Amino acid sequence: MKVVIIGAGPAGLTAALELQAAGVNDVTVIEADAQVGGISRTVLHHGNRIDIGGHRFFSKSDWVMEWWRGLLPVAAPTDPETARELRYQGASSIAPQATASESDNDVLLLRSRLSRIYYNKRFFSYPLKLNAASVLKLGPWKTGVYGMSYIWARLNPIRTERSLRDFMINRFGRKLYHQFFKEYTEKVWGVPCEQISAAWGAQRIKSLSITKAVSHSLRQLFRRHQDTEQTSLIESFLYPKYGPGQMWETAANRFERQGGSLLMNSCVDEINIIDGVVRSVRYRDKAGLHHTLECSQLLSTMPIKDLVSASAAAWPAPVREIAANLSYRDFITVGLLYPRSALPRQLDDNWIYIQEPGVSVGRVQVFNNWSPYMVADPVNTVWMGLEFFCHETDPLWKMPDEELKRLAQDEMRQIGLVSAADAADAVVLRVPKAYPGYFGEAYQRFDELQAAVDAVSNLFLIGRNGMHRYNNQDHSMLTAREAARQIAFHQVDKAAIWSINVDDEYHEEKP
Ligand SMILES: Cc1cc2nc3c(=O)[nH]c(=O)nc-3n(C[C@H](O)[C@H](O)[C@H](O)COP(=O)(O)OP(=O)(O)OC[C@H]3O[C@@H](n4cnc5c(N)ncnc54)[C@H](O)[C@@H]3O)c2cc1C
Repeated sequence: MKVVIIGAGPAGLTAALELQAAGVNDVTVIEADAQVGGISRTVLHHGNRIDIGGHRFFSKSDWVMEWWRGLLPVAAPTDPETARELRYQGASSIAPQATASESDNDVLLLRSRLSRIYYNKRFFSYPLKLNAASVLKLGPWKTGVYGMSYIWARLNPIRTERSLRDFMINRFGRKLYHQFFKEYTEKVWGVPCEQISAAWGAQRIKSLSITKAVSHSLRQLFRRHQDTEQTSLIESFLYPKYGPGQMWETAANRFERQGGSLLMNSCVDEINIIDGVVRSVRYRDKAGLHHTLECSQLLSTMPIKDLVSASAAAWPAPVREIAANLSYRDFITVGLLYPRSALPRQLDDNWIYIQEPGVSVGRVQVFNNWSPYMVADPVNTVWMGLEFFCHETDPLWKMPDEELKRLAQDEMRQIGLVSAADAADAVVLRVPKAYPGYFGEAYQRFDELQAAVDAVSNLFLIGRNGMHRYNNQDHSMLTAREAARQIAFHQVDKAAIWSINVDDEYHEEKP
């Protein structure tokens, strides 16, 4: 058995280690980038680290939690005051491992989470909570208007929810929808809410409702010890000391130590499928030279759009057309370093959702709060990542780096999160295909594409863009585990891979 895996992101590396664990030893991972980790990599810039997504490590799957802890142990916090337990399943709990301490390099930290919405130069809880603080910030008039609009929406719902707009109006009322949801969602996705399917809302925000928000507020008022504990458990997460890429660098090192072959800076550009069976892949190395590698099984985490174009001769025209027209949302992160004195107020957030009108920035990450070890000088400087959502064809994507840096600095000052005109350092990172798009005509016909690819028995699509699925790290890993299991035990059942992350409640932080 000679297995090739395209991509050294979470899915590719999980598959690689799972295959080795099952006794499959001839495994080659081909990675286009100079770094492993895919979207979950950590980028180092002048001693400061950037997490492209803002990756919380948590999962409802105990297997995933244990897998992570098997690579990086959970450190006991240096300050016992901050000691806390983390339990996502209810069944098992994640406590620090006695042998690991925060001063070790290869550890997971237990971090607290704070995300807030920034609107009208004020902070609101995220997800939006209807508590006394929100009412005070909105003022009694707006609160009354939003309340009436909500009651009206409940009494006169849009009967057939056709779009995300209908979905949100029915759940939040027209006024709240326009104020807090419409502009931000459209900024993220680049299409009007009317064009996004209501099913997307049902998957992404089904657990968020005004009734829940109100009952949450009441519980906060009358909370007993148990409630306090539950809240604190949900609002903490695991995070590698040096960012998410550390997990995947550790995985890659283990894979190579165990005899696996990892080809970096190598981009797969041709997949040879003959008579419905993958025979080999061709990749281009750093020097531009082409190499061909034969394989008995191929696991792919490369975007399905690219996979089909790299094996075009194997597919009928309608399948090629669907793949070619799949849509994605791309994004740009601009890292900005400020001295602490440039911030009018301390920011304890992981993420700040920018709802201020008139700016392009969608979300701001404060890397110091993910892990202080991400920052070269966490005491005197604040290292932030500004996220701009766009398409690869947009003028914003094509803007020269220096202009993007300027735009980011100007917007930070405009919305009042910093007072200085200039940052001490800045860097631009472009992330193509960050989100697979769940809209468009091609996506409606995705089943046809899936059926055609599934018919190639030794080709396994796994991961996020590999399956064109909104998979988080954990779901990407679970698809990889399932494919590795099928290969190792010679039991092909593609439907079992596609069934992962279908009914699970969504838990990636809303973009
Ligand atoms: C903004 C944002 C926030 C997120 N937050 C979280 C979070 O809080 N928690 C969480 O668990 N997940 C989060 N995620 C999701 C997480 O990033 C992904 O689930 C995960 O990285 C997907 O892993 P993957 O291996 O499937 O794909 P990727 O990470 O995309 O890796 C694919 C790899 O394949 C390589 N590749 C592509 N084409 C080729 C080719 N032709 N030849 C060779 N190599 C190729 C790429 O270079 C890449 O390294 C977030 C994502 C985003 C965008």
